[in-house]
Amino acid sequence: MSGDLVQYAYLVSAILLIVGMRNLASPKTAPRGNLLASLGMLVAVVATLLIHEVVSYGTVFAGILVGSVIGSVLALRIQMTAMPQMVALLNGFGGAASALVSSGELLRSSPASPPEGIVPLAMALGVLIGGLTFTGSIVAFMKLQELMRGQAIVYPGQRAVNGLLGLLLICVTAAMVLQPLSLEWYYGVLALSLLLGVLLVIPIGGADMPVVIALLNSYSGLAACATGFVLDNAGLVIAGSLVGASGLILTKVMCDAMNRSLGNVLFGAFGAVDASAGGSGGEADTRTAKGYTAEDAAVIFSNARSCIVVPGYGMAVAQAQHAVRELADTLGAKGIGVMFAIHPVAGRMPGHMNVLLAEADVPYETLVEMDQINPEFPETDVALVIGANDVVNPDARSDESSPIYGMPILDVDRAQHVFVIKRSMNPGFAGVQNPLFFHDNTMMIFGDAKGTVLQIVEAVKELS
Ligand code: NDP
Repeated sequence: MSGDLVQYAYLVSAILLIVGMRNLASPKTAPRGNLLASLGMLVAVVATLLIHEVVSYGTVFAGILVGSVIGSVLALRIQMTAMPQMVALLNGFGGAASALVSSGELLRSSPASPPEGIVPLAMALGVLIGGLTFTGSIVAFMKLQELMRGQAIVYPGQRAVNGLLGLLLICVTAAMVLQPLSLEWYYGVLALSLLLGVLLVIPIGGADMPVVIALLNSYSGLAACATGFVLDNAGLVIAGSLVGASGLILTKVMCDAMNRSLGNVLFGAFGAVDASAGGSGGEADTRTAKGYTAEDAAVIFSNARSCIVVPGYGMAVAQAQHAVRELADTLGAKGIGVMFAIHPVAGRMPGHMNVLLAEADVPYETLVEMDQINPEFPETDVALVIGANDVVNPDARSDESSPIYGMPILDVDRAQHVFVIKRSMNPGFAGVQNPLFFHDNTMMIFGDAKGTVLQIVEAVKELS
């Protein structure tokens, strides 16, 4: 295949990827978007295979086979709630691949054919960003998989140490760009970026981890983009830039949803904050939350006209979405209007609740975004919180000493009655206590989300 044809194929692939991503913006067009983007990736892979400069087809197909088997097994076994750590691992491998390709290209260059033009810079960036993404992602994976402490790990002088190492890395990278064939600079960049990846992620903890993963995703794209310049491969440059840009946008969307700056997420050491610092945290021990049963909920529902369901991470863990759909249908059949309130960071990834509820065929028009649903709570008879905690914590609105102060929340406490289904009084991802559980109009129903929702369905049916 001539070089021109390969470039045209990359152009077609880029168009398919961009149109595919555009289609992902709406649930109606998302399946088509997925298909178009996959097709775009297929075109790019086939075009690349047709460039006869790469290793033998035997080696390529052996790699595809091994990778596909590992990838398929992981994807089939992974729980939906463990997606963030799966993405972390994939980002890490992406970063490692870019660092390895840049390293390979550098190591096979010689004084007779030295890297020229933009290539030394691209090689250095490929190694730097790829290495940092690799170790940073592995630490993120281990934290989320609870293979190491999930909270922020901090020590005195941490920022100064990281700052100095960062400065040193910039200097060594500049030296590598100027003298690409002096391998000591390359080893310096590699070692420092691997070290910094670890050091930059350990002080991040708790509810900030998904943001870091989105940022590392963006880094893996940038590393791939740099590697694209090393290989003079337009397809890799385009795909890498798309991942880099979309990862950054996602990072910003998450930060906005938590009303935090990226700097605060990266350097604020969220998980290290004393969780009892918030006003509610200290009071929690002396107050008692009121425990109720599914039958009590059915009695309240028998007089209700409206209900807003607030799903959270606990609904995802319990896989309660089908039971929740059944409850919504049962209440709907009794003439109760049921809407779903979707917080932008409910669960562990953006769109987590939308995906689960769509899987259970909950009509999309009943899913209402936070800003639209909040004015409805004071007029609502029952707010039913199912496995959500941080996203309904009123301290975020009113307690300046709370670590989550300023995060926009769903105003469930303003509804006439509030039911909260969770298993215990344990805090949510952010590790802070929730005063909602002690409010006069709040009734706790302790239990697993799925079982409890099904009990409510039965109790409501029995009362009818
Ligand atoms: P939380 O993590 O705050 O709370 C979930 C609650 O679910 C827990 O308190 C837990 O209580 C309960 N739970 C767990 N398992 C079950 C079960 N089987 N049955 C019933 N309840 C259960 O979840 P939210 O969705 O409210 O908040 C999401 C958090 O993630 C926020 O802190 C947000 O900032 C953070 N985050 C999310 C991002 C995203 O993109 N979605 C991005 C960045 C951060 P108990 O153990 O007592 O049952």
